[in-house]
Amino acid sequence: MILQPFLPVCRPQLPTAIELLPYLQESDATRHYTNRGPLVRRLELRLAEYLGLPSEAVRTASNGTSAIEVAILALAGMATPQRPYALLPSYTFAATALAAERCGYRPIFCDVDPKTWSMDLDAVPQHPLLDKIGLILHVAPYGRAPQMRQAERLASLTGIPVVVDAAASFERLLEDPSLVSGTVPMTISFHATKTFSTGEGGAILWKNAPGQDSVVQAANFGFNLSRRSEVPGMNAKLSDLHAAVGLAMLDTFETRRKDYASTAKAWATAAAGLPGGLHLPPELASIYIMWETPTSQIMDRAIEALTAANIDSRRWYEDGLHRQPHFKRFGGPDVQSIALPVTEDLGSRLLGLPMAHDLAKDQIERVVDVLASVL
Ligand SMILES: *Cc1c(COP(=O)(O)O)cnc(C)c1O
Repeated sequence: MILQPFLPVCRPQLPTAIELLPYLQESDATRHYTNRGPLVRRLELRLAEYLGLPSEAVRTASNGTSAIEVAILALAGMATPQRPYALLPSYTFAATALAAERCGYRPIFCDVDPKTWSMDLDAVPQHPLLDKIGLILHVAPYGRAPQMRQAERLASLTGIPVVVDAAASFERLLEDPSLVSGTVPMTISFHATKTFSTGEGGAILWKNAPGQDSVVQAANFGFNLSRRSEVPGMNAKLSDLHAAVGLAMLDTFETRRKDYASTAKAWATAAAGLPGGLHLPPELASIYIMWETPTSQIMDRAIEALTAANIDSRRWYEDGLHRQPHFKRFGGPDVQSIALPVTEDLGSRLLGLPMAHDLAKDQIERVVDVLASVL
């Protein structure tokens, strides 16, 4: 058998050196490279304009994880002895829990809904540890639309600060900018693997001018117009050199969206006969094709067959955070008893398949042929 070329699960493409050049030359001229320089401020303004949001609604960060951290610090502050816990879903990327931990919270994990793959926000008020929870981290997985109105209701009902990790959901905000809230901050990631990218980067979306001032302060060592740390902070600033990547990416982003949409269409056509559900953009971010396999045995066989055919696949969130060595330690006697059956089921059946804006029809068919062979 002739081994076909390796097909990666994602193959990002950022602006070329030539496309970056005019922006980098501006930095050459201004000699301003970070600390909210001209390119960072222009990227924030252009993103706000593109999303149809007031200018204060967009503040950048050095990555999606630091964006979560500064949103937590600005909204909730560090954990307190009275409310040490952060409630979040186990079915998410490690960044969500690590951000809470860096702000002093002890992560406790809840299960997710089998349809939305998200925490059931309406069930949170019945949580047995509610009066010890100081932070709720809601996650919109795989670029789905975050449930912002429910998050706002939960925050006002319980008085507990809610931050939403919508790391991959940039495209959902383009479709519906009203998702951006005035009370519940939402964070996104501009990592190279996300649909819109600055290489590394992220943003806090929040229609709240004083809140965003606190975000900027937390992201800059807790400084406010001086070199004195006044509140808990860190260095979470996006550099102007990364902002240049974002500005160049915005210049051609509409073309990128169209390319992704036609690739998603080709995926839908090629995979129409697959049993189980194929979750595609625009339900998900353009970077994700997720096959919800009918059984965990089929997923195991699919991974094996894809690997043998030199095709990459990814269980993006593995079995959930509660199974990962670092996070296991947070399960105290009161927490360990909470079962997470949906997380474990999704972890054993949701498989990420190759996607790229320029993935060819014959490459998609190559993947689908392998999947069909394991059924
Ligand atoms: C990508 C992602 C992050 C982390 O973003 P970084 O920019 O890599 O720090 C956090 N949460 C979720 C759900 C993600 O998909």
